[in-house]
Amino acid sequence: MKVTEHIANAQGKTLFSIEVLPPQKGKTIDDLLRVIEPLMEFKPPFIDVTYHREELIYKKRSDGLIEEIPLRKRPGTVGICAAIKGRFNVDTVPHLVCGGFTPEETEDALFTLHYLGINNVLLLQGDSDKNPKAANPKNNAHKYASDLVYQVARMNQGKFLHEETENEMKTNFCIGVAAYPEKHYESPNLNTDLKWLKHKVDCGADYIVTQMFFDNKKYFEFVDKCRAAGILIPIIPGLKPIAQRSQLSTLPRIFHIDIPEALANEVEKCKDDKEVKRVGIEWCIQQSKELKAAGAPVLHYYTMSRSEATIEIAKAVF
Ligand code: FAD
Repeated sequence: MKVTEHIANAQGKTLFSIEVLPPQKGKTIDDLLRVIEPLMEFKPPFIDVTYHREELIYKKRSDGLIEEIPLRKRPGTVGICAAIKGRFNVDTVPHLVCGGFTPEETEDALFTLHYLGINNVLLLQGDSDKNPKAANPKNNAHKYASDLVYQVARMNQGKFLHEETENEMKTNFCIGVAAYPEKHYESPNLNTDLKWLKHKVDCGADYIVTQMFFDNKKYFEFVDKCRAAGILIPIIPGLKPIAQRSQLSTLPRIFHIDIPEALANEVEKCKDDKEVKRVGIEWCIQQSKELKAAGAPVLHYYTMSRSEATIEIAKAVF
């Protein structure tokens, strides 16, 4: 079933969902399935699986020159989605990114998903943190998420890249996209970012998932601004509990978000990361309860493929 159908069927009840990462190469999928298993108690109607582009690593060769090697550390998003779907009978949402693929390769991947009965996708530009070349895709790859949205929306109309199929088949993907209550870091201001978000919606996005935030006011204000800009599709808040003191600086650096002073002060007072985890879980429970009371369609937890904190939060909230 589509994410938007799950939301419609819930008739205003807030749903619980999670995002997991593919295992690192060398680890087994069983570890990931063990993470998901206890979370199934809270009946997530869908589970997102992230996509990871190749990272650039540098090795010194025997002749002294430095070799640049593109390496994918977490491959297998599509296969993992199929495995989770088969094991838990739950809908899965693979993330697909622009760079690294030609539009033809993207089309093939979408056919594979279609054959697997996976009809939800979250379409993204893709991180360029660990691979600066990802920001300047080669091979005619899409540059912005909206280009991907346009391609998938056309496939849903039976329009393919180079030819019409003989039996007039159409795909039936529900299209999710990302948004940033505190603005995307490359955007000059929130209004410009909203203009491009509206463009993604006009290209065919069906729902939005937000970047994590720690101050609900930012989400509520963002939703109001979206509605005023004519963005009327569901906006799912993304949540993550703080777990380490070091995240006071790493989360703002990596994700370009603010940590509210009250939360930062609480974390500073902790004597170790065990106490930080407690603070992070309590903060996330309060955030979740307020978002649920305000009628958020789904609470979507970034688990980082660890379940303990999310279980505790879900027990308190759902
Ligand atoms: P876009 O919507 O393409 O926007 C990128 C920037 O360009 C924005 O500043 C926007 O305002 C601007 N812009 C958009 N369209 C245009 C245009 N036509 N002309 C000019 N400017 C434009 N990354 C991964 O690699 N794998 C994942 O699995 C993954 N999952 C994510 C899930 C969520 C919920 C979120 C919030 C992020 C995720 N990311 C993931 C990170 C994401 O890829 C990065 O944040 C990326 O920098 C932006 O992606 P986007 O899809 O929002 O980009």
